[in-house]
Amino acid sequence: MFYNPFFDPTMIIVIPGLLLAMYAQAKVKSTFARYSKVTAQRGITGAQVAREILQSKGLGHVDVQMIEGQLTDHYDPRTKVLNLSTQVYSGTSLASLGVAAHETGHAIQHATGYLPLNLRNSLVPVANLGSTLAFPIFILGFFISPELIRIGLYLFSAVVIFQLVTLPVEFNASSRAVALLESGDFVARDEIGGAKKVLSAAALTYVAALLVSLLQLLRLLLMLGLLGNRDD
Ligand SMILES: [Zn+2]
Repeated sequence: MFYNPFFDPTMIIVIPGLLLAMYAQAKVKSTFARYSKVTAQRGITGAQVAREILQSKGLGHVDVQMIEGQLTDHYDPRTKVLNLSTQVYSGTSLASLGVAAHETGHAIQHATGYLPLNLRNSLVPVANLGSTLAFPIFILGFFISPELIRIGLYLFSAVVIFQLVTLPVEFNASSRAVALLESGDFVARDEIGGAKKVLSAAALTYVAALLVSLLQLLRLLLMLGLLGNRDD
């Protein structure tokens, strides 16, 4: 039994997932770029929208800060800080407002104890561990002990569960964003479509990430079958 990392036919299984992931990344970038050029009629920035929504929900203590990079926007539940990228923070486009409202949606999820978010946050450490160590431990298991193979599979399953739980968290934040933008009159009726498109494109990247992980897990199980049987 020998594992050759340069020629592993099971790798082929993962390719459709990787292609979808690449497509989703390109799509989110192009959609964001497109709606970054469409200024919302009200002319307020992403940061202002976030602050107004937070105030209206009694979450004025949540800080809204600007961070470097593009599409690096995220809500940090540990520090209760809403980090918005430069373009979103000071932008007045439909893309900026959509992303700002989405991140605000995460802050509201956190404040209201939205269950999938809590579950997701509690899975972060094991998912981080799994995404770096699951595969090496799994491979090492074939040389050392079947126990390690099992640990590798468990760790990788944790990554899959993490990405599965991420989906309702992301979809819910986006549907909150759309409702908040509409009810707060931050965007006009004919503008909401643009913000929705940006959020849908972003959601696809999470679906693609889940697909990649599911296919990876399938691949590990297939390798277990192929390599495991050869051992007998
Ligand atoms: Zn999100």
